Amino acid sequence: MEMTTCNVCGKIFGTSSASVCPACRKLLDIVYEKARAYLRDHPKARLNARELAKEIGEDERLVEILTIEGRFENKSEGMEDSEVEKKRKLLLEDLQRNLTSTPQKQRESGTYGSDRHGTRREK
Ligand SMILES: [Zn+2]
Repeated sequence: MEMTTCNVCGKIFGTSSASVCPACRKLLDIVYEKARAYLRDHPKARLNARELAKEIGEDERLVEILTIEGRFENKSEGMEDSEVEKKRKLLLEDLQRNLTSTPQKQRESGTYGSDRHGTRREK
């Protein structure tokens, strides 16, 4: 069994895989249940770890660790993210199209006309 420092309380404990000691794991489970209940009641809430911890009256560090462990990830949120990403890509494509079309027009109406006027100046 290896010795690891607990991510929450900093205590050294023996484990084979976990990064949080058994006592803190219990605490994390309680915080997770609270946070999940809060998020279920406030589905439109967009909170970071600190704000969520404040709302449920728990330690910010515990919520942060749950977030890092991916405990709050749900499918509906992921879908929203990819839709935003799609819109951003479309916008970027539009922008690039506009950028490449403008310099060409400027090149066409260039110095051609003024050159011709210059050569006919013979008197
Ligand atoms: Zn601990």
